[in-house]
Amino acid sequence: MAETIFSKIIRGEIPCHKVYEDDRVFAFLDIGPLSRGHTLVIPKEAAATLGELSDESAAAIGRVLPRLCRAVMKATGATAYNVLQNNGAAAHQAVFHVHFHIIPRYENAAEGSAGGGLGIRWPAGKLDSTDGTQLAAAIAAHVA
Ligand code: 5GP
Repeated sequence: MAETIFSKIIRGEIPCHKVYEDDRVFAFLDIGPLSRGHTLVIPKEAAATLGELSDESAAAIGRVLPRLCRAVMKATGATAYNVLQNNGAAAHQAVFHVHFHIIPRYENAAEGSAGGGLGIRWPAGKLDSTDGTQLAAAIAAHVA
């Protein structure tokens, strides 16, 4: 895949506010925070989307992501947070190197007013039970 700005950040060629690093994972503050403490957690492996990531990198991120969430919460005093992970341009992905956003939420919006906060639209439908049966079986059959 084509290299992105995140590979340069990992190598230290572009500066960032680093919060964590190990053999496989790197985390740093988002340059355009939606709220104070908005942090990006990325694998060192340069995969574009989550589905392309190796099991080893996925496991390494899974191991450290909860610890990083706790650290962001403790450091900021936020009362809640979203973990967001975009895949593909249609899903709002702008940097094609896998990344997890940790986006703190604050009781008092002014406390976290680095940005406008994360806006979520959630127009829920209703699962059709016949389609659900077929769909669940199809997805299950594709789990490698
Ligand atoms: P996406 O929309 O791809 O899920 O989010 C990409 C994120 O990367 C954005 O929130 C954006 O602010 C952040 N970002 C893009 N370029 C840089 C950069 O050079 N440094 C840092 N720290 N964050 C960046």
